[in-house]
Amino acid sequence: MKIVEDFIPAGRSNRPGLKLFGPEWITIHDTANTGTGADAAAHARYLKGDDAAKKLVSWHFTVDDRQIVQHLPLYEVGWHAGDGVNGTGNRSSIGIEICENPDGNREKAEGNAAWLVADLLSKFGLALERVVQHNKWSGKNCPRVLRARPNGWQQFLAAVESNLKDTIFPDVPADHWAAEGIKFVKEQGLMSGKSDGKFYPDEALTRAQAASVLKRFYDFLLKKTDG
Ligand SMILES: [Zn+2]
Repeated sequence: MKIVEDFIPAGRSNRPGLKLFGPEWITIHDTANTGTGADAAAHARYLKGDDAAKKLVSWHFTVDDRQIVQHLPLYEVGWHAGDGVNGTGNRSSIGIEICENPDGNREKAEGNAAWLVADLLSKFGLALERVVQHNKWSGKNCPRVLRARPNGWQQFLAAVESNLKDTIFPDVPADHWAAEGIKFVKEQGLMSGKSDGKFYPDEALTRAQAASVLKRFYDFLLKKTDG
C-alpha cells in the first residue's frame, strides 16, 4: 500500500512542530464527514486550508479505499485527540482518520487502515494494546462507525492482528529491505531477537556475536550436507 506524503506546510498554526513523545499510541478516528468526495485527498486539502489552521486541528494520516495520505511527519505532534495541549493523546499518539465518504468503499478503507496500523506497530515495536479509540482520550464518540457497529472495534483490531502476522519481528515489517535475510536467519536459528523479542535491525554486530553467527552457520551447513 502506497503512502502519499502531502504535509501541512511548516509554520501553519495546526502544525505545531513539537516532537511527538514515543510515539507510544495509535489513535483511530472516523472523519464523521459523509459528504460525497470527502476522501483522503479532500482531507489533505482541508488540513492545508484556513479552517483547519483556525481550529488548530491536524492528524497524521487519512485513509480511504484507494490511498493513504500522510499530513504530518511521524515524529511531530498533531492536534487530534481532544485532550489538550499537554494531553497524552495529543503528545504521544499518531492520529489516523478513516474516511466515511459514500462514494468510497468503507470496508476497503478499514482494511487499508488496518494495514497502516500494523505497519506502524512494527515500525515502533508497539503492542496491539497501543491501538486505541479517540474516545479513550476525550470521551468523544469516535471512531463512530467502528463504535456503532456490533463488534466493529474488535473486528478492526483482528484485521490489524492478521496484518501483523506477516511481520518477522515486531520491529521488522514484511517489507523491510532485508526481510528475506532476516527471515532466513530467524527460521534457521542463526540469529534471534533480543530478550524483548525485537531484532534491532540497525544495531551493529560485535566481533563476538559475528563469531557465534559464523559458527552456527558452519554447523548449519554441515547439517545440510549430512542430511
Ligand atoms: Zn476523532
